[in-house]
Amino acid sequence: MSDKNFRVRFAPSPTGYLHLGSLRTALFNYLFARHNNGKFILRIEDTDQSRKVEGAVESLINTLNELGLNYDEGPVAGGEYGPYFQSERLKLYRKYCDELLSKGHAYYAFETSEELEEMRRVQQIQGKQTMYDRRGRHLTGNEVKEKLDSGIPYVVRLKVPLDEEIRFSDLIRGNVKIETNQIDDQVLLKSDGYPTYHLANVIDDHLMDITHIIRGEEWLTSVPKHIILYRAFGWDVPQMAHVPLILNPDKTKLSKRQGDVSTEDFLNKGYLKEALVNFMALLGWNPGEGEDREIFSKEDLIKLFTIERVNASGAVFNIDKLNWMNGEYIKSYDPEMLEELIIPYLNNGGIDTSDREKTTRVVMAVKGYINRLDEAPEHAKVYYQDVSLSAVKKEILENSDAQKILSILKSKIVSLLEITTDNFKPLISEIQKETGIKGKGLFMPIRLALTGEEHGPELGLIAYVLGKEEVISRLETAISTK
Ligand code: GLU
Repeated sequence: MSDKNFRVRFAPSPTGYLHLGSLRTALFNYLFARHNNGKFILRIEDTDQSRKVEGAVESLINTLNELGLNYDEGPVAGGEYGPYFQSERLKLYRKYCDELLSKGHAYYAFETSEELEEMRRVQQIQGKQTMYDRRGRHLTGNEVKEKLDSGIPYVVRLKVPLDEEIRFSDLIRGNVKIETNQIDDQVLLKSDGYPTYHLANVIDDHLMDITHIIRGEEWLTSVPKHIILYRAFGWDVPQMAHVPLILNPDKTKLSKRQGDVSTEDFLNKGYLKEALVNFMALLGWNPGEGEDREIFSKEDLIKLFTIERVNASGAVFNIDKLNWMNGEYIKSYDPEMLEELIIPYLNNGGIDTSDREKTTRVVMAVKGYINRLDEAPEHAKVYYQDVSLSAVKKEILENSDAQKILSILKSKIVSLLEITTDNFKPLISEIQKETGIKGKGLFMPIRLALTGEEHGPELGLIAYVLGKEEVISRLETAISTK
């Protein structure tokens, strides 16, 4: 591990839920910081007043904490670089915006939204790129003063230096270049006095000493504008790493319309945080040659994570893989902790878990069958419901072979101290040997007697969960059906 004072940040605009794409951005930043012994900062980009959502920040912090992506500086945690809410830093943005204005790197513009709309329409008709036509640059000092004095609403725009080429090297995307003439004179300060994302983001990344900007690829096109701003201020540009988009299997961008994208929804459905972290880390990153396993603990990921191993191409979100992985985590989870996690789901499904010993056995029995915790009630039901038999099923039990099997089984169980997970199966083999009956003819009567169902979990598990007394009682009921 190196100690290079790396500082990275996760800078969400709180929307009320953590988009899976943002979760991955947060995770990559976290892993990068921990791998390099650096600092992981949470900054809330909440300058868009129209998008404010009550309680969104609290919920975001809860989700990050729940996933174990704890940050070193940010809201609640504090730090030397605060405040960490952009809405509390407005004076700063104003001050730096004034600096740009006075140095001639920015200018006032007074167009109404109708005028801008008209400008766009004409450009469209002429087949031109739609962008601000930079007309505000040509106002004289006096004209600007007059408009400001008479209270006409204004924005402040970036004065993009023309006829240049901006080049930068992205740690994931490699070399990128763009002609400045294609870059819009971006609004920096809006008419409500709030900064735009671009202005606030650059100022904060600089003031917070951010060394590496790791974020989604959708921000790549903003980089040239940001570089122009860094230069105008005379600041160093942090290193950049734009992580690839997360895609649906049909290669379109993963979006709300195509299904769930909220991390909270995934957690609620019973995806374990360890599995989500593991799965998301592998979306666009790989641990390199010779590492063909798929299960990585957070500690493994911290040890292995480097930006160089993030792919440049999009990463397909494969829900089947996530389900498989979650199932693996469920199977190998600490039994007591798993029980704590599953109980609310069982209760939700109408199952009474007050008999804790039975619950422990049920959890142990269902965990091999589920990929998500919310599937638990469906699989646990069989251990709680009364046996009720249709006429056809009754007939199967009344058959003399069936009766023989059930009676022998009962006598064998009576002599057991208790049913364990492994002492039931041998009994069945013994019965097979003693009676010569095998296959369905052997299993079905037992299954029907114990559960009333034709399908279900392994018989040994069922017997173990029900326990000796209940198994005997159910066998007796089945024997007396005749
Ligand atoms: N506030 C931006 C977002 O919501 C941050 C982008 C960035 O990391 O620069 O994603």
